[in-house]
Amino acid sequence: MAYVITQRCCNDASCVSECPVDCIRPTPDQPEFATTEMLYIDPDTCIDCGACVDACPVEAIYPEDDLTASLARFRDINAAYFERHPLESNFEPIVAPQRPPKELGRLRVAIVGAGPAACYAADELMRRCDVEVEMFDRLPTPWGLVRAGVAPDHPGTKTVSGMFESAFRREAFQYYLNVEVGTHISHEELLQHHHAVIYAVGAASDRHMNIPGEDLPGSHSATEFVAWYNGHPDYAERQFDLSGERAVIVGNGNVALDVARVLTVGPDELAKTDIADHALDALRRSNIREVVVLGRRGPLQAAYTSPEFLALAHLKGVDVVVDEAELELDPASQALLDDPDVEPSLRLKYTLAEEYAAGRRDPANKRIVFRYLASPTALTGDERVEGIEFVANELVEEGGQLVARATDRTDRLDASLVLRSIGYRGEPVAGLPFDERRAVVPNEHGRVLGEDGVPLPGVYVSGWIKRGPRGVIGSNRIDSEETVEQLVSDFIAGKLATPQGDRDALKALVAQRQADLVDRAGWKSIDQAEKSAGKSAGRPRVKFTTREDLLKAARG
Ligand code: NAP
Repeated sequence: MAYVITQRCCNDASCVSECPVDCIRPTPDQPEFATTEMLYIDPDTCIDCGACVDACPVEAIYPEDDLTASLARFRDINAAYFERHPLESNFEPIVAPQRPPKELGRLRVAIVGAGPAACYAADELMRRCDVEVEMFDRLPTPWGLVRAGVAPDHPGTKTVSGMFESAFRREAFQYYLNVEVGTHISHEELLQHHHAVIYAVGAASDRHMNIPGEDLPGSHSATEFVAWYNGHPDYAERQFDLSGERAVIVGNGNVALDVARVLTVGPDELAKTDIADHALDALRRSNIREVVVLGRRGPLQAAYTSPEFLALAHLKGVDVVVDEAELELDPASQALLDDPDVEPSLRLKYTLAEEYAAGRRDPANKRIVFRYLASPTALTGDERVEGIEFVANELVEEGGQLVARATDRTDRLDASLVLRSIGYRGEPVAGLPFDERRAVVPNEHGRVLGEDGVPLPGVYVSGWIKRGPRGVIGSNRIDSEETVEQLVSDFIAGKLATPQGDRDALKALVAQRQADLVDRAGWKSIDQAEKSAGKSAGRPRVKFTTREDLLKAARG
């Protein structure tokens, strides 16, 4: 019997180094790691020891005999990876990371943001150094997109916060929640109190379609909708009109799939999760029967990952619909698929689309309909969104990529809700340079670069503000390790100025500026109150969704 990695693999590779027979691939030092959808276990080499299970922060690994029907296919998905990439031993010697010598004293680092990139950076710093880490977030709660982004029906993915929680129990780590850098404390003040500041602020905004009608009521970004159903306090008051029968989602990444599921699965299923109560109430009253997911390129170029696409097949009461005619491939895509060396994950994406096209449908079910090669040109309606017009695309090669080019064929759909799910976008950070085109802070391996291209002493970035909004939760681990590596080597090289203020001075300063600071005890109170409300309702937690309620809970 072998172990099998399944759908919610977070790619943080914690399992790789734990495997005594080195049978998990790709490893972070292999080129395939940058693009892989998930990690895989070689069934022929696995010795069934279970070490990877304990290391996995999101409970994604199962003994093959314990796979449920919805996960059974991952046995073949794991094996297929090794048919394409036969296991070879990785004889690269493991180089232990450099530790700062004792005489340099204790390193002090401020981390701005409390999402996965921030947490992986804090965890890595505490593993490597004698360090004091102070983590700032403008919300009264930590975990960033793990709390406000991961879909409520993916509870396993959220378990990564448990790993951070236990790493952050040490006094070396302090929470400064409900503290906004730029309002309560400036960038300069952070630098005065620390050797270094790491900005891990994510990508808080979203991209626009720039088409007529985009600002009509009924047109929203998926990021707002996600924040609303996840109980983000800045979005609790938002209203989404779910009175019509059809919603259209523009873009077909994993966020689009999250939103499509939340709009179609039964509210009774969602009632078992930590979805915000206001969203659950609205979804109970929803009339939406069909969600159309509009991708601008073909089924082979779809941005969703195959594990997430596969998971749709197991939704109760929902048909996944693909029109067979949409699966006809252009010559370049066909050649990709016909290549005997095609990545199994790419072939699987197409196979699944074929299966959905051939699948049986039940008229009583709700539907998620995938349309490909279609770009919106306008949202129509007088007072609010009533429909969406789009143009059919063809694929053309440009710069080594297949990109969408509009044809003269047009179409339209009635819809009362349109959610654009075309990617997050980073926002400028006060006091730091910003690359407007890529919407990231310019950096070299995490060292922030000034206008002259020279690193700014003591300033670093990690996560989506460093590399752009792509990758799953665990992708931030390798990214943050890289940033921490630069920071620690700058500390060892004497490039970081000694802080003028210590931990007590910082505490006093913040307390003066923000009476409602939420510290470790405050967050613990919130967490316990939410979990205990959840326990009596048979849910993981019932979230507080306004700042007032969160702060009241923090005060205990
Ligand atoms: P994404 O994966 O980058 O997908 C964006 C989608 O928008 C693509 O289909 C893209 O098409 C399309 N698009 C971009 N500009 C467009 C335009 N002007 N008109 C029409 N379509 C346009 O982004 P995401 O879904 O926001 O996800 C962000 C990251 O989080 C991804 O790495 C994702 O895998 C990850 N995530 C993972 C999970 C999970 O594992 N369950 C859940 C949520 C998010 P093109 O491909 O043609 O550019």
